[in-house]
Amino acid sequence: MSTLTGTARKLKNYIGGKWVESNTTVYEDVYNPATKELICQVPISTREDLDHAAEVAKAAFEKWKQVAVPRRARILFNFQQLLSQHRQELARLITMENGKNLTEALGEVGRGIENVEFAAGAPTLMMGDSLASIATDVEAANYRYPIGVVGGIAPFNFPMMVPCWMFPMAIALGNTFILKPSERTPLLTEKLVQLFSEAGLPDGVFNMVYGAHDVVNGILEHPEIKAISFVGSKPVGEYVFKKGSENLKRVQALTGAKNHTIVLNDAHMEDTLTNVVSAAFGSAGERCMACAVVTVEEGIADEFIARLKEKSVQVQIGNGLDDGVFLGPVIREDNKKRTVQYIEKGIEEGASLLLDGRERMSDDGYFIGPTIFEDVTPDMTIWKDEIFAPVLSVIRVKNLKEAIEIANQSEFANGACLFTSNANAIRYFREHIDAGMLGINLGVPAPMAFFPFSGWKSSFYGTLHANGKDSVDFYTRKKVVTARYPEPDFQ
Ligand code: NAD
Repeated sequence: MSTLTGTARKLKNYIGGKWVESNTTVYEDVYNPATKELICQVPISTREDLDHAAEVAKAAFEKWKQVAVPRRARILFNFQQLLSQHRQELARLITMENGKNLTEALGEVGRGIENVEFAAGAPTLMMGDSLASIATDVEAANYRYPIGVVGGIAPFNFPMMVPCWMFPMAIALGNTFILKPSERTPLLTEKLVQLFSEAGLPDGVFNMVYGAHDVVNGILEHPEIKAISFVGSKPVGEYVFKKGSENLKRVQALTGAKNHTIVLNDAHMEDTLTNVVSAAFGSAGERCMACAVVTVEEGIADEFIARLKEKSVQVQIGNGLDDGVFLGPVIREDNKKRTVQYIEKGIEEGASLLLDGRERMSDDGYFIGPTIFEDVTPDMTIWKDEIFAPVLSVIRVKNLKEAIEIANQSEFANGACLFTSNANAIRYFREHIDAGMLGINLGVPAPMAFFPFSGWKSSFYGTLHANGKDSVDFYTRKKVVTARYPEPDFQ
């Protein structure tokens, strides 16, 4: 069904096990960002479409919650198999609609599959706990139950991994799900839906409604949707969290980032450079765990910065499907223009432009080259804002303490990395940095499925994060039974 023929086809929503045309008259063009080729058209669905999905998901929940947990898990195992068999096809779809290179796309597919593997452990993860003797002849036990229909709202930058943070676990635990993928990357999710259905998932358990504001507002307001998982930018996440909470729903909103990497004098120079270039410019900087600022200790700053520029100049730009290409395009023309505006702003505010990505722009696609600013200070817009493009700021510092003081001024606190061989510095960093996901001698500290994706400050709104045991708590509610068993009289 997802074979592309070169002519743009109109995508359909998936509701109750059927591909259904949206009620809308509005369709948005979806482009391959590396070629500007029109690849399909996505419906900007209506509130009516969403309401239909919510009713279907509610009806399906009544049956799905009663399916024994190991039986639900078996469907997840089938899904895992199918995803593994389609690994290459999934990765090519990601590259085609998102632009990241094929190696990165394959990595993303792997990350998504890990989430399915984690969710297949539902029989263990869903266990409650008990205490045989909490008072004389009294015991207490805690049982977990699903919560109902869950809505998921996803961004464009990880079309497979991010939805997989949400629906496999929610569904394995007995909930039903409505996914609203990004309207800019709709094809990968279409494939996920097909494969999950092929794995034996009953109709109505996993539904997908394409769209934008109206569908999001429908998810925020529909009384049958009990919980919402959001991943996207800070302004939208803040809105989703406030509105969803106001409507008494459980909400987790994972949002923007401005991640700092600190390089100390005793870091391994070559490894650090490789990691920083990859973390700053990989996926065109469109990662919530991208390295946006690198602070370097004075002792190695001159050499580090010179070699950073040298390495960044060598980065191969192009269509991510081509061999050897590292840096693909940003997602749309608007994102490219916005990046150019940030470069102009950086110059205007007094930062020194060490490497100008505008010189490597090409009109074949939405390409912009690696950009590096030096002499950046925390009052500058390029330091404060999430640019979400291949733009890196470099700051020289006296020591680790100063580097941490700078990083902690950011309103965001998703990830932070330290490159050093000093154990005491590592501990100091862990104890003093404001960030929820830390990397030591690695560039992108994105936790695997078994640990929470635990951003702090404006990078996260809510209490329970995506993934890890947090996700089990987020997608379940508990019943605690306290029971008295008077000693029987056996005479
Ligand atoms: P976005 O906020 O523009 O879109 C996210 C979702 O919200 C999409 O499904 C979109 O259709 C919807 N949306 C957008 N504007 C809306 C509005 N005004 N009202 C209602 N819904 C709206 O984000 P994006 O550009 O797709 O993704 C990039 C952002 O996601 C970055 O800020 C990045 O840091 C963030 N992100 C965060 C994490 C994390 O774990 N913290 C992971 C991935 C991406």
